[in-house]
Amino acid sequence: MTQAPTERSRARRLHEKAAYDRASIDAILDAMPLAHVGYVFDGAPVVTPTLQWRMGERIYWHGSSASRTQRKAASAQVCVTVTLTDAMVLARSGLEHSVNYRSVMVFGEATTVTDPAEKAEALRAMMEAMFPGRWDQLRPMTAQELKATAILSLPLTEASAKISTGMPTDPPEDLATPVWAGLLPIHLTMGRPEPDPQLAPGIELPAHALNYRFGQIVKP
Ligand SMILES: Cc1cc2nc3c(=O)[nH]c(=O)nc-3n(C[C@H](O)[C@H](O)[C@H](O)COP(=O)(O)OP(=O)(O)OC[C@H]3O[C@@H](n4cnc5c(N)ncnc54)[C@H](O)[C@@H]3O)c2cc1C
Repeated sequence: MTQAPTERSRARRLHEKAAYDRASIDAILDAMPLAHVGYVFDGAPVVTPTLQWRMGERIYWHGSSASRTQRKAASAQVCVTVTLTDAMVLARSGLEHSVNYRSVMVFGEATTVTDPAEKAEALRAMMEAMFPGRWDQLRPMTAQELKATAILSLPLTEASAKISTGMPTDPPEDLATPVWAGLLPIHLTMGRPEPDPQLAPGIELPAHALNYRFGQIVKP
C-alpha cells in the first residue's frame, strides 16, 4: 500500500530515491532496531538514540517511566529515524562522494501505551522480534517492572523511506580522473557470544543467540 506523502514527509532533495509504500518502509524498520527519536524540549531539539520495533501499523520504543524522553515525548510531536548504511561511495570528486543507505523518517504525535496487557504484549513483541522464543524462557515480568517501563508508539501514517543505491554518479568529464572509485560495502557482523561468568551450569547457547543478526532482523 502506498500512502500519499504529506507536506512534511514528501522528499524534495533527490526525491527519486524516496518511497512511501508500506512494504519499503516496513522492511527498513524491521531490519534495523536502532532508532533516533527527535522532539523539541524547552524550545530546543533533542534527539535520543533508542531501539524501536514495529507491530503492524505502528512503531514502538520503550524506556524507564522516569526517563526524560519517555515523559517529554509523550503526546508530543516527534520524528523517529531509522538508518541502515550499505556502502561508502567513493567518487572522482569530493562532491560526488556519498553513502548507500536505506532510511526511514516517521512523523507524528507519540502516544503512551497505558493498558498493562497492551504494554506486556508490546514488550513481548519487542523481545520476540529480536530473539524468537526467548520471552517464554524468561522469568515472568513483575507488575512493578511493567509499571516502571514506559512505552511510546507512533502510527506509520506519515512516513517516508529514502533508499540510495548504486555506483558513484560522476559526470562523464570526470571518468578519466586517475583515482579509484567504487563502493566500500558495509556489513554489520556479530561477534562470538560471551557467556556470563555467573551463568548456571549446563545452559546451552540458544538458537536465537546463534542466529541473531543485529541490523538484519527479519520479523517472524
Ligand atoms: C547514512 C546517511 C548519510 C547521509 N549523508 C548525507 C550528507 O552527507 N549530505 C546530505 O545532504 N544528505 C545526506 N543524507 C541524506 C539526508 O538524509 C537527507 O535526505 C538530505 O540531506 C536532504 O534533507 P532535506 O531535509 O533537505 O530533504 P527534504 O527533501 O527537504 O526532506 C523532506 C522530507 O523528505 C523525507 N526525507 C528526507 N530525507 C530522508 C531520509 N534520509 N530518509 C527518509 N526520509 C527522508 C522526510 O519525510 C523529510 O521530511 C544522508 C542520509 C543517510 C541515511
